[in-house]
Amino acid sequence: PAASSPPPHVAVVAFPFSSHAAVLLSFARALAAAAAPFGATLSFLSTASSLAQLRKASGSGGSAGQGLPGNLRFVEVPDGAPAAPEGTVPVPRQMQLFMAAAEAGGVKAGLEAARAAAGGARVSCVVGDAFVWPAADAAAAAGAPWVPVWTAASCALLAHLRTDALREDVGDQAANRADELLISHPGLARYRVRDLPDGVVSGDFNYVISLLLHRMGQRLPRAAAAVALNTFPGLDPPDVTAALAEILPNCLPFGPYHLLVPKDDADTAAPADPHGCLAWLDRHPARGVVYVSFGTVASPRPDELRELAAGLEASGTPFLWSLREDSWPLLPPGFLDRTAGAGSGLVVPWAPQVPVLRHPSVGAFVTHAGWASVLEGVSSGVPMVCRPFFGDQRMNARSVAHVWGFGAAFEAGMTRAGVAAAVEELLRGEEGARMSSRAQELQAAVAEAFGSGGACRKNFDKFVQIVCRP
Ligand code: UDP
Repeated sequence: PAASSPPPHVAVVAFPFSSHAAVLLSFARALAAAAAPFGATLSFLSTASSLAQLRKASGSGGSAGQGLPGNLRFVEVPDGAPAAPEGTVPVPRQMQLFMAAAEAGGVKAGLEAARAAAGGARVSCVVGDAFVWPAADAAAAAGAPWVPVWTAASCALLAHLRTDALREDVGDQAANRADELLISHPGLARYRVRDLPDGVVSGDFNYVISLLLHRMGQRLPRAAAAVALNTFPGLDPPDVTAALAEILPNCLPFGPYHLLVPKDDADTAAPADPHGCLAWLDRHPARGVVYVSFGTVASPRPDELRELAAGLEASGTPFLWSLREDSWPLLPPGFLDRTAGAGSGLVVPWAPQVPVLRHPSVGAFVTHAGWASVLEGVSSGVPMVCRPFFGDQRMNARSVAHVWGFGAAFEAGMTRAGVAAAVEELLRGEEGARMSSRAQELQAAVAEAFGSGGACRKNFDKFVQIVCRP
């Protein structure tokens, strides 16, 4: 930095719900390390309850700062919520209150708190989850650039950027035109109307996430100094990259973001394995296990859950299943005892997914196609079968099965026979072998992009320079 300019003070604004805040925290850890040579300090802005959860998840106890890089501190932003006993306000309402507060000065208040916590050092750049678009105005008011971080897939971002054009095209015909390809929309020609994220042309346009994504899509092209993309060069087809670049000239792909965390920090922040998943996997042969998880929000209907359980059992393939405990009573009678007794199945309430997918025994992944899960699977070379539920998951599943070909999708939910056949195909079929080698090709591309001098490293360096420049 120039001798006259003070060291950078970067605010990182989280969207404090679902897996978003954790992804952004790991992003912020990587940024803190990379920006340290610039003398930068970082303030990570989230709500009190989100910060408490992040502290708990990283095992860093009660006080802010523990377990965090020395130049990264937690700063609270208002959650906009009235005082109410925990768990009594439904999550969509919490999101609505948070966004309303953010828009009405909540981010601005967070930036002021960050400044106070940093001994008066002005915030020089506002990085943040693109969902929290009011950060654009708060940054402008503080005279700082806004550098949003997109955590989902590029094609979904494109759909949100083109929402007005898509709505104009599809009108109220989303149901009638569900199978039509979006050929007149640059970058989206491989997707059907039905694959678009909820709230773009169908679903509830007034749902809090639909509204915030629509506003974000309108705001990004005008306000973003640069945009971080959670993808790596070589993953998105050229027309998707070109269509995005047309709207957002300063896109920098350097995902999967979880690979940015430096090794020594990754060790301190390594996910715990309280249920012994990795030791259990050690007892199985290479590529012999199917790993099942639907992320942190989605839950299959009870009948579908039973079909999945029966299908896994029928496949005769060892499985590791991350399933929230409240769903365990819905499993078929005797399922847990039978499979655990035979050593053929391990059901856990939480698995350290990244190391699990990297474990040599995992040969297939049954996933809801949440974007983090798709990237974690492909960067470990694991082919997948997708059962999308909501949001951008259908679009991701479509990409997996029809754009990249490293997996398949259950188009009409999971049945016992469908699950058994899909697992069999992925682990032992010809088509499965092709999907597997496609996943391994992309795994190699990720490794190259993150190797020294690789494209993701270079793009991340550029990003750090943009964020740290005076
Ligand atoms: N995850 C995990 N263990 C589990 C379930 C999920 O570590 O048992 C992590 C997973 O690695 C991923 C995130 O939770 O990083 C889920 O994000 P994704 O975007 O796939 O789905 P979401 O939860 O947002 O629907």
